[in-house]
Amino acid sequence: MNYARFLTAVSAARKPSPIRILTELQQRSPPSLISLAGGAPNPNTFPFQSASIKVKNGQTVSFDEAAMKRALQYSASNGIPELLTWMKNLQKNLHNPPTASYTSENGQMDMCVTTGSQEGLCKVFEMLVNPGDNVLLDAPTYSGTLAALQPLGCNLINVPSDQHGMIPAALKEVLSRWDPSEVHKPGSTAPKVLYTIPNGGNPTGASMTTQRKKEVYELARQYDMLIIEDDPYYFLQFDKPWAPTFLSMDVDGRIIRTDSFSKILSSGLRIGFVTGPKPLVDRVVLHIQASTMHTSTFTQPLLQRCMKQSLSSHRVIEFYRGQRDAMISSADKWLKDVAEWHSPSAGMFLWIKLKGIADTQQLIMQKALEKEVLLVPGGVFMINSSDPCPYVRAAFSLSTPEQIDEAFRRLSSLIKEAL
Ligand code: PMP
Ligand code: PLP
Repeated sequence: MNYARFLTAVSAARKPSPIRILTELQQRSPPSLISLAGGAPNPNTFPFQSASIKVKNGQTVSFDEAAMKRALQYSASNGIPELLTWMKNLQKNLHNPPTASYTSENGQMDMCVTTGSQEGLCKVFEMLVNPGDNVLLDAPTYSGTLAALQPLGCNLINVPSDQHGMIPAALKEVLSRWDPSEVHKPGSTAPKVLYTIPNGGNPTGASMTTQRKKEVYELARQYDMLIIEDDPYYFLQFDKPWAPTFLSMDVDGRIIRTDSFSKILSSGLRIGFVTGPKPLVDRVVLHIQASTMHTSTFTQPLLQRCMKQSLSSHRVIEFYRGQRDAMISSADKWLKDVAEWHSPSAGMFLWIKLKGIADTQQLIMQKALEKEVLLVPGGVFMINSSDPCPYVRAAFSLSTPEQIDEAFRRLSSLIKEAL
């Protein structure tokens, strides 16, 4: 893989921040090293002394004075070493990425901690996408992705999808505009980046089948594209066995995967991680050096100490599965005549097509509020948000089954009045 061809001029121009290098060097040195180098403030002047946080399972996570001093200080931009080691093992256990291709210096896999997967995604897009570039994705898609991509001035090309995600034959058709043997020629407009949400897609709830992933990966090989696998609902798959990921198929080193702890540990503490070929992860880390510097040094060990038990806990999955079932049964009860949907096998969203309503924007933003029921009008997930869209997104994460039932009763009467 020649990663240089994928980088924007801005990303290629990033250089390590000299002070950051010294900070990281100091972290790896014995305590006997006397450093007058770092610009770190003295944590003895900080007001916080220690912390003790109760975990729902009855355990306590404690930060004594020494741990607290460290938690309040600057740390490495790619993440604290013990969390990185833990996550690299996790990633290997979950996805076992084919390592043969990763043994070369150029293709080694690496990871970094990010302040939520949104930060990782935004930095990955800014690393790879130039104004005028053609970028492939399956819309409707996550509005946060559109918010990060659209200002880059790229041309978003929709690849048709259904309840099983992106359709490989449709991707092939879109790509047939270009000749695979010419994608490396100067001036080629062939897309270099494909973005998709493989499980419990936001907003559609769609999950991609293994076969489709294989076919999409093969097309990415043919056209020498990178795939951005944005998988925040991976840990919220309701049925076992979980589908193999793009990362698990990545013999070439063309997958950049973003993971998130927002749905299983905390969305407010802001932590996620990026996994991908080392030369690309290095560029993301250089961008972090120049922006957030690193994810909170307090958040990282806190989450690490709760992680093991949370990832292996079926409590979260069972909760969301129950919520999904409740929403589907209320939809069956109230919306059968006025709407259509597919039951999602992951995530927290139901994507509902309202029959006989060309665009849901007005219905939701004006009339639904009067009836005291709120959903997201589908248009916000479209490449052109002003195109009419008959869909709404309903989240089953936060409301009780009783509230969901009442909400759908209200929605049903709203639709009937609008028809
Ligand atoms: N600006 C200046 C002039 C600084 O010295 C520093 C910290 N060394 C920063 C910004 C970054 O500060 P923060 O840790 O709040 O990101
Ligand atoms: N990607 C998708 C598809 C999402 O649905 C979300 C959150 O809603 C994110 C990324 C952002 O997640 P994080 O909280 O980790 O930044």
